[in-house]
Order: sequence, then structure tokens, then C-alpha cells
Amino acid sequence: MTISTEQIIMELRKSKNTIATEAQELGLLKQNSNLNSLINALQTTINLDELLPIFHVELLKIVSHSGVTYEHDQLNISTKFGQRSNHKCEYDLSIENTYLGKLTFMRRVRFSEPELETIEKSIGALLYPLKNTLLYFQAIQSAHTDPLTGVLNRSTLQSVFQKETSLSKRHHSELTLVALDIDFFKAVNDTYGHAAGDLALQEVTKCIERTARESDHIFRIGGEEFAVLLNATDLKGAELFAERLRRAVQSVSIHYANAEFNVTVSMGVTSYRENEALDTMMERGDKALYEAKQTGRNKAVSA
Ligand code: GH3
Ligand code: MG
Ligand code: MG
Repeated sequence: MTISTEQIIMELRKSKNTIATEAQELGLLKQNSNLNSLINALQTTINLDELLPIFHVELLKIVSHSGVTYEHDQLNISTKFGQRSNHKCEYDLSIENTYLGKLTFMRRVRFSEPELETIEKSIGALLYPLKNTLLYFQAIQSAHTDPLTGVLNRSTLQSVFQKETSLSKRHHSELTLVALDIDFFKAVNDTYGHAAGDLALQEVTKCIERTARESDHIFRIGGEEFAVLLNATDLKGAELFAERLRRAVQSVSIHYANAEFNVTVSMGVTSYRENEALDTMMERGDKALYEAKQTGRNKAVSA
């Protein structure tokens, strides 16, 4: 049997199409298996610090991108994985009327339509795990936070102290503590009422937050007592911080109802000594604070 050239060309075309279809199917299969692996990987954690890197790494297997950013303004979260680049696609995430933040994907060249579709499928897989990690994140945060002032609570001091002392050992850097107590606070409550006292606590907190660096840790450890852990800061640096804070607090006018008043703070400043316990460091800070109270208040004393 003789086969014409046209027939050969037709057969070739057919097999080319079959190969193309098979390749496409294989591509889809591979994509599906990568998507499945992404879905499975996203189920392995409820920790936000782990979920987003997992998402980034798994997505890299499906759609090439240089970096991803994730932001949630209300929860004060802003993280970045990989590199920023000029082409971006942004997604505001939400599920069942709950806002879940904003994801931005970046790379040097534009994303194609099929790639955007794949990204959207991957986001679909991320939504529920992300919602759960955000709930967990908020629960952990509220367990660590003082509800009136929004700073860390006393029970968190020990774990932060442990983390900071091991960092200071590793980096051979100094760690200092500022123990702070509002002066004559009982008189504030007695004169202007408890609600005015609460407002004063919030105003003092704002002063500490404005004076401290992002990396410092602020704790409310008692009624009108605070502790600030300053990392990579020596005693001299902590004394400068305390003096700036003292001036900032005394210059703030607190307005409550028709009243206007000021408060001052006394502080004890001390440096961490290698291998000592938190209680030992706190005792030294408290002693210095007590001396500041005894010698006139509205001042800082070092120990
Ligand atoms: P000093 O200068 O010696 O520190 O005097 P002080 O009056 O500040 O010290 P004292 O320890 O006698 O008083 C602390 C007051 O803080 C008593 C308490 O009613 C008040 N206080 C504790 N927690 C809160 C709070 O959450 N809100 C308000 N408004 N007051 C509080
Ligand atoms: Mg006190
Ligand atoms: Mg006091």
C-alpha cells in the first residue's frame, strides 16, 4: 500500500497534536500534583510565621515569582519573602466577611493569564489555613497583652527575658532594664477618678512607645508599674533613654472631662549580668527605682 505525502503530513499533524495534548495534560497533572502538595503543606501548621513561608516555597514550584509580601494593617503584620520586583499582582483576601490581609506577588516580568489563574487557585487553598492561623495569632497575642494599654503583660516577661539574654550572649551585646513607676498615682485616682487614672496609664504607655525603639520590649507589670527591656543597649544608653522618657512624660498634658493634669515617673536602670535570673535583675532595678522615689521622684537612678 502506498501512502501519499498528504497522508503522511496529516498523520504527522495528528501525532503532533496528540503529543501537544498529552504534554498539556501532563503539565496540568504536574500542576495539580503541585497544588495538592501546596494544599497538604498548608495543613501542617497553625503558626503564621510558618504558614506564609510554606505558601511562598510551595507556590515557587508552580509559578515563578521573585517575592511575596503579606500585610494586615489592623493586626500590625507586615512580612516579606524573597525579593521585591517591579511587576506586581495584589489580592485583598477575605472569607465569610472576615478580612484576611493583602498578598502581593512580585517578579521582573509580567504574570501571564494562566499564571494568574494558578496563583488564584493557590490563594483559594490558602484562605482557610490563613484564617485559622490569624485566629491563633490573635489568641496568642491577647494572652500576652495587657488589655488597658496594649503592651506586654507580666507573664510574658520571663519568656522575652530568656530570648533576649540568649541573643545578648550570642551577639556579645548588652541588655538593660528600666523599671518604671508613676509618681503619686493614688492621688491621680483620688483627685480625678479611676477613669482619669486609666487614661494616664495609656498616655504614659504612649510616651514609652514613642521613646523606645521598635526592638525594645515594654511590659505593664503591675498597676502603675512598667518594665522596659532595651536590647543592644548599655547602661549609658539606657540612662539617656530614661531621661528622654522622663521629660516626655512630664510634658504631656492629660485631659479628662474638664480636668487637665500631668504625671511624672520614677525609674530604676540596670544592666543584665551574665547568667543571672530575671528576679535578680528585677530586684536590682526595683532597688534603684526605690532610691529614685526616696530621693525626690521624677528621676532615674542607676544600679
Ligand atoms: P509613689 O509615687 O510612691 O509610687 O506613689 P503612688 O501613689 O503611685 O503609689 P501607690 O502604690 O500607693 O499607688 C498606686 C495606685 O495605683 C493605687 C491603685 O489604686 C492605682 N492603680 C493600680 N492599678 C490601676 C489601674 O489599672 N487603673 C487605675 N486608674 N489605677 C490603678
Ligand atoms: Mg507602684
Ligand atoms: Mg506609683
